[in-house]
Amino acid sequence: MSADSLFGSPTGLNAALRIAWIAACGAGAAGLAVGGFHYAALWPASRLFGRSLIAGNDPAEVALTYDDGPNDPYTGQLMDVLARNQVRATFFVIGRYVREKPRVVRDLHHAGHVIGCHTMTHPKLMYMGLKRIRAEIGDATALIEDTIGSRVRFFRPPFGSRNPAVFHTAAEMRLTPVLWNVTSWDWNAKSAAEIEMRLHRGIAHNQRKQRGSNVLMHDGGHLEMGSDRRRTVTATANLLGPARRGGIRFVTLDRWEQ
Ligand SMILES: [Zn+2]
Repeated sequence: MSADSLFGSPTGLNAALRIAWIAACGAGAAGLAVGGFHYAALWPASRLFGRSLIAGNDPAEVALTYDDGPNDPYTGQLMDVLARNQVRATFFVIGRYVREKPRVVRDLHHAGHVIGCHTMTHPKLMYMGLKRIRAEIGDATALIEDTIGSRVRFFRPPFGSRNPAVFHTAAEMRLTPVLWNVTSWDWNAKSAAEIEMRLHRGIAHNQRKQRGSNVLMHDGGHLEMGSDRRRTVTATANLLGPARRGGIRFVTLDRWEQ
């Protein structure tokens, strides 16, 4: 089914989605309450505005995903750690950083990692209209594809923030929206051990629920290039060996795409 038949109206958004969106944007219409809107727009497991890829049903599978790069020197350090362990991961890169560090993104691609789009400037898309959303996602996707010479298939909304126009745009551009089900909180962790504890706890929780784990970490920071990600690099290094000995298989997101 094409994006047009899914969203077949003159403006590209069908009536139901448009009503939900107008209500959600707080235009005064009865509909979703503010709390409901924030759940629909931000909660990773919510499907109210559209479906996103999170993980598969094999509890032994774990996808490591890194957002907000490329970021010197930590993206390169992560690449070394992953290579030593023969693990491939998924990197959701920010367009404006790709422009600054195209070589790092090419290196990631050549090392076999999956590169996804994380918009051009990392805005909260839930408050934005179709035009700005198209520019944020479309410009970044085109830039990444030019940089690596390969099609981009995955998109992760910054902050997990989304609205119906985000899903419409992703469908239009043949991008699979991706969220996560393990949060490492690595951006505010005081130590690598704290990150490791959250990773182990999150993966174990998903295993009890008989599902794979899509782990959110950060090789960069959306506010500036050069964010300190030493703890994330160390936590990754400490996770890989023991996790594999424990029967974990590290996968990239394409493994779970229908
Ligand atoms: Zn981000």
